[in-house]
Amino acid sequence: MRVTVIGCAGSFPGPDSPASCYLLEAEGFRLVLDLGNGALGPLQRHAELFGVDAICVSHLHADHCVDLGAYWVARQYSADGPRPPIPVHGPRGTAERVAGFGGEGMEAVQARFAFRDLAPGPAEIGPFRVTVDRMNHPVETFGFRVEHHGWALAYSADTGESGALVRLAEHADLLLCEASFLDGQDTRPDLHLTARQAAEHAARAGVGELVLTHLVPWNDRERTLAEADGIYSGPLSLAVPGMVLGTAASPPVSR
Ligand SMILES: [Zn+2]
Repeated sequence: MRVTVIGCAGSFPGPDSPASCYLLEAEGFRLVLDLGNGALGPLQRHAELFGVDAICVSHLHADHCVDLGAYWVARQYSADGPRPPIPVHGPRGTAERVAGFGGEGMEAVQARFAFRDLAPGPAEIGPFRVTVDRMNHPVETFGFRVEHHGWALAYSADTGESGALVRLAEHADLLLCEASFLDGQDTRPDLHLTARQAAEHAARAGVGELVLTHLVPWNDRERTLAEADGIYSGPLSLAVPGMVLGTAASPPVSR
């Protein structure tokens, strides 16, 4: 599985990154995980505009799904005519949310996207085995475990501290974990993780590598990394747009 970070800015786009978006590829199948603000642009550097086979959205906060509206426009008004629907897996209400972005109604968005409700448990999406569970966030939010040929990626989406995340990520090869906050920032427990908490989740799950993501543009990147360091002892890094992970990437540097 090849995992490309398209966008890793938390909560809103930053000067150097769109909001959340990851491209997962295996056996020629392209699965997009979240499609936040600004992600559709740079996604086209890594996948042909209509080469996406399926999309999963973790939750309906704009920084994880708003570019579904832009992608609907592209598929609806393609120079070669409207494109056939592709599966969009998301929480209940995803179709209504996307219809709100485009302003052309439910029927129009359902002609371009085949919406499927996520529910806890495993499912097959293309060549991937995708297992989801509910995270600890103010709206219905799903974390992901995506497996292909024995290699496993876990993705936290947005969450406060969560035993479900530890279970989803158990012994995963890679955990893409949100680290929205720094120690001492005023947080509420059901919203986001600090970098330290992300590292604690990675250590408890025994993952092979931790990449911190959903990095809020106003936070100091080096401080984010420093606060996770020492809590989780495996390979640790911060997400950057264009970063390639997974079995197609060069191995992480052990510390
Ligand atoms: Zn959120």
